[in-house]
Amino acid sequence: MTQTYDAIVIGAGVMGASIAFHLAERGLKTAILERRTAASGATGYSSGLVRMHYDLAVEAELTFKSHKNYFSNWRERVGGECGFQHTSFLKIVKREYEDKLRGNVANQQRIGINTSVISADEARKLFPDLATDDFDFVAYEPDSGYADATLTTNSFIDGAKRNGATLIQNCEVTAIHTAGGRVAGVSSDKGEFAAPIVVNAAGRWAKHVASLAGVEPRS
Ligand SMILES: Cc1cc2nc3c(=O)[nH]c(=O)nc-3n(C[C@H](O)[C@H](O)[C@H](O)COP(=O)(O)OP(=O)(O)OC[C@H]3O[C@@H](n4cnc5c(N)ncnc54)[C@H](O)[C@@H]3O)c2cc1C
Repeated sequence: MTQTYDAIVIGAGVMGASIAFHLAERGLKTAILERRTAASGATGYSSGLVRMHYDLAVEAELTFKSHKNYFSNWRERVGGECGFQHTSFLKIVKREYEDKLRGNVANQQRIGINTSVISADEARKLFPDLATDDFDFVAYEPDSGYADATLTTNSFIDGAKRNGATLIQNCEVTAIHTAGGRVAGVSSDKGEFAAPIVVNAAGRWAKHVASLAGVEPRS
């Protein structure tokens, strides 16, 4: 028998879990179909850095928002735990990249991120065991740290479930069906699923999953 949903998310890594959380929060009846178990892909191997230092402003802005709205406010925003540990974060670069580091930090400060360039001496005062022979300056983010990637994922999934979502594990999507130029559902080794929205959150398997819908990457 075909099961019908408003949205199907393929993959229960942190991306699929977060997408399902937000879809369910908006009232969509959502199913997450996972080939193995939640966080069994790249997510489960992540060290879970929660930092905002990125070269690209768009990534820095995204991580700033996710830090402010989610990681430092997890229980209220998502519920449960993400395991966020506040350790602060240093970005160390070779001396020849110091100008680029200062440029990145200036961009991040414009976004609103609490970051600054500090000297090697100042860094050693904060972290007495740090070897500082190879650099004179370092970027310092006092608000950053790391989270537990698996806990983060499961927490998103639990939040999605509280809004009516379903997680189906050991369920590999084997075909994506279209009708009239639109997606219509999927076949899996646990049966047929119909939905007008199918989200490919299959991480490094995304290319293969996209090919199931006849979508090939542009060369
Ligand atoms: C707290 C945290 C901090 C992070 N910090 C950083 C950072 O500082 N820098 C950085 O670069 N990255 C960071 N990451 C990202 C991390 O390194 C990974 O890139 C990310 O977790 C990958 O998630 P994903 O959901 O895209 O892929 P995956 O975790 O690989 O999930 C994809 C899932 O799809 C499933 N799947 C595949 N094919 C099918 C199919 N046909 N049917 C059903 N299921 C299928 C797989 O089994 C897998 O579980 C962070 C992640 C977390 C959670």
